[in-house]
Amino acid sequence: MTLNPSGWRPEAPQGGTADAPTFTGNRALMLEEPLIFEIGATDTTGVDFALTPAANGSRLAGLERAAPIGLPGLSEPEAVRHYTRLSRQNYAIDLGLFPLGSCTMKHNPRLNEKVARMPGFADVHPLQPVDTVQGALEVINELAVWLIALTGMHGVAMTPKAGAHGELCGILCIKAALEARGEGHRKVILVPESAHGTNPATAAFAGYAVEDIPATAEGRVDLAALKARLGPDVAAVMITNPNTCGLFERDMKAISDAVHAVGGYVYCDGANFNAIVGRVRPGDLGIDAMHINLHKTFSTPHGGGGPGSGPVVLSEALSPYGPLPFTARMADGHVRLIEEENAGEEHPHSFGRMTAFHGQMGMFTRALTYILSHGADGLRQVAEDAVLNANYILRSLEGTLDAPFAAAGPCMHEAIFSDAGLAEGFSTIDIAKALIDEGYHPMTMYFPLVVHGAMLIEPTETESKATLDQFIGALKSVAERAKAGDPALKSAPHFAPRRRLDETLAARKPVLVWKEPTLAEAAE
Ligand SMILES: *Cc1c(COP(=O)(O)O)cnc(C)c1O
Repeated sequence: MTLNPSGWRPEAPQGGTADAPTFTGNRALMLEEPLIFEIGATDTTGVDFALTPAANGSRLAGLERAAPIGLPGLSEPEAVRHYTRLSRQNYAIDLGLFPLGSCTMKHNPRLNEKVARMPGFADVHPLQPVDTVQGALEVINELAVWLIALTGMHGVAMTPKAGAHGELCGILCIKAALEARGEGHRKVILVPESAHGTNPATAAFAGYAVEDIPATAEGRVDLAALKARLGPDVAAVMITNPNTCGLFERDMKAISDAVHAVGGYVYCDGANFNAIVGRVRPGDLGIDAMHINLHKTFSTPHGGGGPGSGPVVLSEALSPYGPLPFTARMADGHVRLIEEENAGEEHPHSFGRMTAFHGQMGMFTRALTYILSHGADGLRQVAEDAVLNANYILRSLEGTLDAPFAAAGPCMHEAIFSDAGLAEGFSTIDIAKALIDEGYHPMTMYFPLVVHGAMLIEPTETESKATLDQFIGALKSVAERAKAGDPALKSAPHFAPRRRLDETLAARKPVLVWKEPTLAEAAE
């Protein structure tokens, strides 16, 4: 394929619409952007001059590149424009409502960013001498104290770097506690159907056999079925609460008591803590370990794979096994970092480390800023408003879309709908793709698995009523079209840079390396 150095390809798809085609493939400010390899050629570079020989031969002492490495050469404006154009094709919480259920995509207050950028926090290095980072340790410790107070637990491991990483940390604590009791033979972890997918993955990764516990027709854990399965081979249960159907597990205390009675531990997936912060303390429900996604409940930005932070709060029974390092306030008022060298007598049973250093400092700073700026009463209102917004969505749409658990009462932080009642041949994906045309990121689709064609919507507390009303209007309009069988919906999105990609193929067989097309391919 011969490429014009400017990146414009004579064979680029015609842009615009049938009655208003464009020469460039662009549609006004929506720019058609080729791959960087298609813009720059490997044999061009931004520098035109031949290299001047160094005075004493080569400065690279024999380390010169022997063969080209195949990277495209671009001028600086070309490179800057390429990445800026791509970045404008992103959807972001700063652009509009992000209805992804289970993800708690809320506004991130700019105050968090201001504090995180203060040089004393932003430039701190984990290998600095401890006496030069007292302020950073103070922040980690203060956040730990808040998390313990908000959850009513005994201790907290701050180092895990995401929710799923926190799950692993909690399960490794449980494993260490069982081994210390001489009960390492307990090999089963029970996971209800309404749990998040990371829960069974974590249990399996830690070497446990995973067994399902069914959900009731109401979308909650079947307590009788759980009790019937408990026994001396059960190491733990992992329960998501509020669960992925957006419902609070009301039997949580009874579940914990039953699991403890047979010698097991209770892991709670606390990623949905946003719905209950300030209203319920997991410690009062008999939970032994629970991760908190700072990047959900406490607003630090997330998406696209990071950054995250998943501290794990621990019961008194599990705290001795928590990972190193951690912070502790000493009698003299200073915060000390407890590491392998000094853990000896104070923390001899730790299962080890989760990370090289102390956790995600940038997330700690943001989360503590968020907590302090809301205060205890403000955090409680966060939960109340998040639940109110979700119920507003549920009640506004239940007449249009099938809402499988709506009759069971109010939901928590997210509303769930199914694809029942759409026209023959139409399903959740058609609604999701049409929402892209309406300018929204789609909701979470086909999850949780207990609901056919699930659509899970979590508005969070940071959206105004006007924003919710516009979203509800868009979803209603799209849903009515899917119920009426509007054929245009089957080929949505019509206004996105690309239409329907083969997402399964992309996930199963990702093409991660660009290869120069052969002559035959280029001629196609
Ligand atoms: C987001 C989420 C997780 C996983 O958290 P990560 O930080 O993405 O690893 C686990 N459980 C539930 C219920 C979640 O919503």
